Amino acid sequence: MPQFRFYDFRTHIMHAARSCLMFLMLGALMLPLQPGQVSASSGAGLDLRVQLDLQTGILRGHGIIRPKVIEGTNLDIFLHPAMEIHAVQLNNNPVDYRFENGRLRLNLGMTGIGSDVIISLRYSGRFHDPVPMSLFTMDNPGFGVSATITEQGVFFQGQSGWFPRLASQDLPITLEISAPLGILAVTSGRLLEHVESDGKSISRWQVDQLGRGMPLSAGRYIHRRLETDTVPVFTYFFPDNDHLSEVYLQASARHLALYEELHGPYPFDHFAVVENFFPSGFGMPSYTLLGSAILRLPFIPEISLRHEIAHCWWGNGVYVDYSQGNWSEGLTTYVADYLAQEEQSEAAAREYRVRILRDYALLAAGASDIPVASFLSRSDPATQVIGYGKSMFLLHMIRQRLGDEAFWDALRAFYTEWLFSAATWQDMFAAFQDQGWDAQERKTFTRQWLQDSGAPVLHLEDVQVAPSSQGWQVSGVLAQQKPFFDVHVPLRLETTKNDQTMEVALHGAAVPFVFQSPHRPTRLHVDPDHHVFRLLASEEIPPTVNSVRGAADLTVVQSDDLAHVPDDLIRGFTASLNQPKARIITEREAQKQTLKTSNLLFFGFPRSGRLQEMLYAPHKYDLGRNKNGPSFKAHPEAGTMDTIFLVLPHAGHADGIIALFSPARDLDTDAIADTARRIRHYGKDSYLGFLKGENKLRGTWPAPESPLIMDLAG
Ligand SMILES: [Zn+2]
Repeated sequence: MPQFRFYDFRTHIMHAARSCLMFLMLGALMLPLQPGQVSASSGAGLDLRVQLDLQTGILRGHGIIRPKVIEGTNLDIFLHPAMEIHAVQLNNNPVDYRFENGRLRLNLGMTGIGSDVIISLRYSGRFHDPVPMSLFTMDNPGFGVSATITEQGVFFQGQSGWFPRLASQDLPITLEISAPLGILAVTSGRLLEHVESDGKSISRWQVDQLGRGMPLSAGRYIHRRLETDTVPVFTYFFPDNDHLSEVYLQASARHLALYEELHGPYPFDHFAVVENFFPSGFGMPSYTLLGSAILRLPFIPEISLRHEIAHCWWGNGVYVDYSQGNWSEGLTTYVADYLAQEEQSEAAAREYRVRILRDYALLAAGASDIPVASFLSRSDPATQVIGYGKSMFLLHMIRQRLGDEAFWDALRAFYTEWLFSAATWQDMFAAFQDQGWDAQERKTFTRQWLQDSGAPVLHLEDVQVAPSSQGWQVSGVLAQQKPFFDVHVPLRLETTKNDQTMEVALHGAAVPFVFQSPHRPTRLHVDPDHHVFRLLASEEIPPTVNSVRGAADLTVVQSDDLAHVPDDLIRGFTASLNQPKARIITEREAQKQTLKTSNLLFFGFPRSGRLQEMLYAPHKYDLGRNKNGPSFKAHPEAGTMDTIFLVLPHAGHADGIIALFSPARDLDTDAIADTARRIRHYGKDSYLGFLKGENKLRGTWPAPESPLIMDLAG
C-alpha cells in the first residue's frame, strides 16, 4: 500500500477565500483609469494601524491614505457596513462624507485637483460571526464566516471590509496590528516584524500586491520559520500543535521547490501555514489557513497542503476570470492531488482517474450535471465532481494529445503571461495552441467539454475474430450514443503472447477498427487505462459510500436495537451523506415497504430475520454471517472493531444499493455519533471498520464487469 492514499477528505476543504461572487462584485467596482486624471503624491499608499480587542470583539482602525490619482470631486472607500466612522480628515481638515452600505463617499471639493491629498480615517466595529465548531453537517467548513473576533482568535476574509479600500485604485499597505500580548497577526504580503511593546504584541506587514483583498488571522501563535533555497516558510500554530511545525515546514519547502521547477518562480515573499481556531481549509495568497483538527490529520501535509501551495500559482497567482467558469480547481487538482498519485505509480494514477469517473457517474451525471464552464465554486458533491474532477480530467486529455513537454511548457507560458491577472479557460487553451494544439480540435473540445455537459457513452459492436494470412484478425466497431463526442480512444488487444494497442478517432456514431495478430487473441479492451472521460456503465461501478451520497430516494431503516438513538443524530448522519431528505422508518414499517425502495440504508443491524436476509442476498462479495451482522471472510480483524459500514448492490433492484451502518450494541450515543460523522470522508470505499472512532479497515469491492472489455478466448 502506498504511503499516502487519496482521501476524499481533502476535497471537503473549502476555498472560500476565492469566493467568486465577492470577486465579481469587486471586479465590477474597480474603475479603469481615465485619461486626463491628475496624479497626486508619489508616495502613494495606506498606513494602517489596527487594534484588536479579543475580549470585546472590537477592531479599531486608523488609516492614513495617500491616493495616487484623484478622480473628480468624490473619493469612494469601501469598509464593512457594520463599521462606525469616528473621524475623517482631508489634509488635516474635517471633510464632508457619507457612509452607506459599506461605501464611504468623501466630497473632496476642489482640494483634490493638482495637489497632494492626505486622508485620515478613524473607524471601529464589533465582529462576532458565529463560527462552526463541528463538521458533522457542514459540507463546506469555513463557509459563511467572513469576519469574527473571539477570545480564541481573529479571522477576516480578504474582502470583508476590515480595512479601507479605495474603489478606484489599490494602494500598497503598511500595516501595524496591535493585539494583547502573545497574539500574533498574519496576513498576505511581507512580514516586517513581530515585536512586543508596552505590554502589547505588534505585528507589522507590508502588502504591495493586494489582489483580491487582504485577509487577517490572529491568535496565540508560536511562529516558526525555515529558510529554503527560494523563500522562507513559516508556521503559525497554537501551542498544542507546535510539535507538528517541523513536518509542515519541511513539506511546504518540498512542495514549493516542486512547483518552482514545474511552473516557474513562486510569486510571493514567503509561504505560511496558519492554524485556524475553527474548522476551515482556506487558501490565501502566500498562506493557507487550516483548522486545528485538520492540521492533525496525517495526510494533510502531503495532500491538502500541496493543493493549497499549488493554488499560489493557480488561483492566487494567476487569478480566475470567472466569465467562462473557474478553471483553477481543476488545474490545481491535476498538478497537486493527481500528480502526487502519478509520482507514486502509473497504477495509482489510473486508480485516481477511475475514481473520478465513478464519482461522475454516481454524483453528477444526469439531472445534477452542469457544463464545466458553469462551475464557479463547489456547493455540493455534483459541483465538486465537475469543477475539480471533470476539469482535471479534461486537462489530462489535453496532455495526452500534446505530450508531456508541450503540455508543461504551455502551462509555464500561461503562468508567466498571466501572473497577477485574471485569465479564462480560453487564455489557458491559447497557451496549449501555441504549443501545437490543433485550432479546430480546440474549438470542438471547448464546445463539447466546457460549454456542454455530459460525457460519451461508449460500447463495442460486431466484434469478429477470424483466422487470417498473418494469424488472426480481430475487427469491430467502437460506437457511442448521442450526443456524439469527438474523442481519441485507445484500444488494447491482448493475445496469448503480447499486447497490441492502437488509438481510434471516434467522430459521430461509430468507427471501425481492425487488429492483425500472429498470436491467438484473448481479450479486447477499450481505453484500458482510463485516459478518456466517459460515463461508466453501472456494472463498471462497485457500490461505495458515494453510491449512498448519490442515491435517489434513500430510505433509512432504524434498527430496533438502536431505537434509543435520537432522531437528530440520524438526520445529521444522513445529511452528512448528502441525503438530508432521506425517509427514516422503523423495522416494523420497513417490513411492509422495503421491497418497493431500491436504495436502503440500515441504521443498525436489523433484528428482523427478513430484513437481515436482504443483506445476505447473493452477490459476489465474500461476506459471512454473524449473530450481530455480516462478517468479512477476507478481513477477520473486522471482528475486533466496534463499527462496520458497508455498501452492497441491491439484489432486487438493478442499480439499487443497500448500505449498513452497524455499531456494536454496547456503544454509547456519543461514540455512535463520532463514528457516523466520519463515514462521509471515505466516499470511494465500499466497506469500512472503526474502533473508537479510528478507521481500521477500508476497501473497495472489485468492479463487477465492463461492456468495454470483451473476452475473445472462448
Ligand atoms: Zn482548491
